[in-house]
Amino acid sequence: MSDVTTVQQLASAMGTPINHLLEQLYKAGIKVDGGNSPITESQKSQLLLYLKQERSVGTELKVPKKITLKRRSYSEIQVSNSGGRSKRVNIEIRKKRTYIKRSVILEQEQERLAEAKTERQERYREENSTVVNNPQEPQENSIKPIDTQVVQDSPQEETKLTARADQVEASKSIEELEQVNEPKEQELAENLGIEKSDSQDNKSLSTSALDDSVSNSKNKVSKKNKPDKDSPRESNDTDKENKKEKHSYKEQSLNSDKFIGKNKKNRPKKAALTIKHGFEKPSTPIIREVVIPQTITAAELAQKMAVKAAEVVKHLMRLGIMATINQALDRDTAVILVEDMGHKPKLLEENILELTLNEQQFIQGIKKVRAPVVTVMGHVDHGKTSLLDCIRRSKVVSGESGGITQHIGAYKVHSKKGDITFIDTPGHAAFTAMRARGAKVTDIVVLVVAADDGVMPQTIEAIQHARAAEAPIVVAINKIDKPESDPDRVKQGLANHDVISEEWGGDIQFVPVSAKTGIGIDNLIESILLQAEMMELRASSEGTAKGVIIESRLDKGKGPVATILVQSGTLRKGDILLTGIETGRVRAMLTESGLEIEEAIPSTPVEIIGLSGTPNAGDEAIVVPDERKAREIAEFRQSKERENKLARQHPAKLENMFNEVNVGETQVLHLIIKADVQGSAEALSDSLAQLSTDKARVKVITAGVGGINETDVNLAVAANAIIIGFNVRADTSARRAIAEKGVDLHYYSIIYNAIDEVKKALTGMLEPEYQESIIGLARVDDVFRSPKFGAIAGSLVIEGVIRRNNPIRVLRDNIVIFEGQLESLRRFKEDVQEVRAGTECGIGVKDYRDVKVGDQIEVYEKIKVDPTL
Ligand code: GDP
Repeated sequence: MSDVTTVQQLASAMGTPINHLLEQLYKAGIKVDGGNSPITESQKSQLLLYLKQERSVGTELKVPKKITLKRRSYSEIQVSNSGGRSKRVNIEIRKKRTYIKRSVILEQEQERLAEAKTERQERYREENSTVVNNPQEPQENSIKPIDTQVVQDSPQEETKLTARADQVEASKSIEELEQVNEPKEQELAENLGIEKSDSQDNKSLSTSALDDSVSNSKNKVSKKNKPDKDSPRESNDTDKENKKEKHSYKEQSLNSDKFIGKNKKNRPKKAALTIKHGFEKPSTPIIREVVIPQTITAAELAQKMAVKAAEVVKHLMRLGIMATINQALDRDTAVILVEDMGHKPKLLEENILELTLNEQQFIQGIKKVRAPVVTVMGHVDHGKTSLLDCIRRSKVVSGESGGITQHIGAYKVHSKKGDITFIDTPGHAAFTAMRARGAKVTDIVVLVVAADDGVMPQTIEAIQHARAAEAPIVVAINKIDKPESDPDRVKQGLANHDVISEEWGGDIQFVPVSAKTGIGIDNLIESILLQAEMMELRASSEGTAKGVIIESRLDKGKGPVATILVQSGTLRKGDILLTGIETGRVRAMLTESGLEIEEAIPSTPVEIIGLSGTPNAGDEAIVVPDERKAREIAEFRQSKERENKLARQHPAKLENMFNEVNVGETQVLHLIIKADVQGSAEALSDSLAQLSTDKARVKVITAGVGGINETDVNLAVAANAIIIGFNVRADTSARRAIAEKGVDLHYYSIIYNAIDEVKKALTGMLEPEYQESIIGLARVDDVFRSPKFGAIAGSLVIEGVIRRNNPIRVLRDNIVIFEGQLESLRRFKEDVQEVRAGTECGIGVKDYRDVKVGDQIEVYEKIKVDPTL
């Protein structure tokens, strides 16, 4: 500027009309005569000072809030096409950058936050006051402001919106870009305020794009909510004064434009808003309530907390627990983990499902007198079975016609004075098994005492059982037909145990009977009914049926069959039953006479078909309104049962039977007997059961035929029982389960040995010095006949080691068929002393020629066991 000397020259240098400059000079207090007047350096400084001052006065209005710079560059690249020829492609890059003062952004951000808050509050209010039919669709109230604001907003705001939108993408507004004069960027920046207003008039493509967007939005929204406002311009006028709403729009648009992106033109505003909310980062972490059952896997926990399973595993590691995602975690661990991850654990109410069941189980209707349920008890051979048979013969068969009498575990007799239900399983086992399951089945105990034998140990035991069950006793002095019968001896014997007859001043009825001749049976029935009358046994036959399982079995043709004694309500054909872990619809109901009936009232025993499996005697059976619920509860019980089984820490051991007995407590030794034949199973079961003493009782849980399988092992775990294998062996899965769960398994081949050992265990004398240990098992894959050795079993050693000099057993289907020694053990025609697992060998069994393919050869040794262990 130093070479400028006249006003004219200065005006052209500044690009200002001469008159405008003269005016400015005048206002600045510089006196000049005209365009040709010279102008000094000091005058120029004075003018600059004036101009600066003038500009600073109007800062508020004139300084733009943002500056947009646009740049376009061209280049060329060489590309080769599929034909291998190259071609040149022109590239045009358009850049647009908008500068906005930080203070402006902050201000906008604050406004946006405030707006978002208000919006949230509004939405909260709406949600709490109105029922949203479709949660995807915003309510009319929340759309309204957006709708009107969009169309009414000032063009200035629209430009602003465009500029922001374009910041994200390379602008499509070619026209606008063409107006850009690159060399004058700085100057343009200074004059932006003016240019912006120009662009408003020009109606840039961006602006019209926004309009499109706006009207799209408008149309979409208005179609649903405001059919009367089709034109955006119309609503513009009507709502213009609504300053608050206008402000709100500004914020909405500033927010939403981030997401409009390339499809700004097509995407309705509503969608943009939805997205905005979708991306809104929660200001506080979401605390979830995590319901924790007895056990839960890491994967399930992850799902409940809405986190990745890997995250849970990582957290567990931090807690020092190495777990896979499918590994079940115990409740305590799960609680700690959930708390650690910032959520709220909630323990699952164990019997919540059961509780809901019980709620509907309340007894409905008037209670009417019901038949008493009687169990016959007494010493062995005193005539329990005979008495039950006698009553059944005389009362059931004669009383009903039609069906064939069958054993269903209980039967009902009819007499003129009333009905009585007899539990058809004599003895104490069934009674105690039911009681152990918490089932109160028996109302009255008929104590059978043989008049020729008097009070015996099991008579006393029966008295104790009856007392424990709080069931009154009616004494049947049996075998009075016998000449040597002495009823008074019985009375005396029982009086010694506080069972005093009415004649002797007590309150117990004594009835002399003969199961053989039938004498006194009617009197016995009368006495039972009298006892029942005093007890005022009542039940309602209305409402949901409830009962107890007396026995169950698996029938080849019918499937699972169970006898239920209905205790309240009426059981009907078609009802959905839940019992223990089994469910099912009652497909058929049969009485003890084999008659099919449609419904059973309280105290009626019925055999039902239709259950999913065989429930246990003593299991409660209830009718559930819906099948799904029944299954749900059954599954819940199943999982609980599994957990309980696994939770068992101390499996029963024959040796340490007395280790944990408290003084004065009767220890019960539970046995599961498996034998090669039915006769052995029965003999063992009876002999072992008779070993019961005052201190310890033997309870045979099951006595069956066949190899020991996994089910037996599981049963042993559940019942804390010892398994006795008589000439049978455990199969592979059972052996694995035995090792895993530490079940005590004893093999015997001589009944006497089994009895002897159990006897010693019962008296606390068992000091096992030698124990058999199976060291190897080979499977016979082929049998060769050798003139020298006879039958040679071409075998594969599948477990352990086969030793030439150890005793062996030959097993067929896990049943011992031969016991002896090896005659030869060969490998590749060479005699060897031992062969290890995974190796083939030839085995010759001494004095046994009947070995077959599929047999197993078991090698064992007798090892000394330290009794202190
Ligand atoms: P439980 O072991 O108590 O069931 O006794 P049982 O019913 O099996 O009877 C044992 C034995 O006593 C059988 O041989 C019966 O025949 C016999 N018995 C049962 N009741 C009578 C009876 O009233 N009179 C006679 N003389 N024998 C009877």
